[in-house]
Amino acid sequence: MMFGGVVLLAGILLGVIFWRLLVTVTQRGGAESSTAIRQLTEAVTALEENDAAKPAIVEDFLTVNPYSRPGEALPEVRNIFVHYTANPGTTAEQNRSYFENLGITGETSASAHFVIGFDGTIIQCIPLDEIGYAVKTRNYDSISIECCYQSADGSFTEATYDSLIRLTAWLLQKYDLSSEDVLRHYDEGGKKCPLYFVENESAWEQFRQDLAEYISEL
Ligand SMILES: [Zn+2]
Repeated sequence: MMFGGVVLLAGILLGVIFWRLLVTVTQRGGAESSTAIRQLTEAVTALEENDAAKPAIVEDFLTVNPYSRPGEALPEVRNIFVHYTANPGTTAEQNRSYFENLGITGETSASAHFVIGFDGTIIQCIPLDEIGYAVKTRNYDSISIECCYQSADGSFTEATYDSLIRLTAWLLQKYDLSSEDVLRHYDEGGKKCPLYFVENESAWEQFRQDLAEYISEL
């Protein structure tokens, strides 16, 4: 009786230990496979959205205010507009601050979704599903990029140029547009913006060619 009881107890103990081991292993395995599934899902999503082509972007959204970020929905994107800041030597951060301060001073309405510094830094000021105040007649169906510059002729540094190519390429793919859908502010209203691409038509054509070439290699 006694012996039988000991064997039974040992059996139960062994059973409990084995069961606990099994639970631990299964849970770990489960956690690992769910991590693997999540990583795979993320990779597929990135491929679908072509986020692999997304350049490094510093998100520093403006405070919602009536002068630079009204918080209104952007219903569609038909074009990407390129601008220059018309303020040589200023950085991306300074231009973002200018937009932010408009919310306080209310001196005018102006902004852009992105500002590219002359060091190539890309700052995003407005989420892509909201409008900015960049091209009077096209704020509700376009995205705008402001470019900083140093030269008096308004030409961009290589770093700005490269970031502009990468950013526009990513946006074009995201909205299923082509390099023909990138416009100068000048093309919609005649403002001399961006100055260098307005005064040097061949440089603008070269930019579009470089852009198309970059996209074809993605
Ligand atoms: Zn402009």
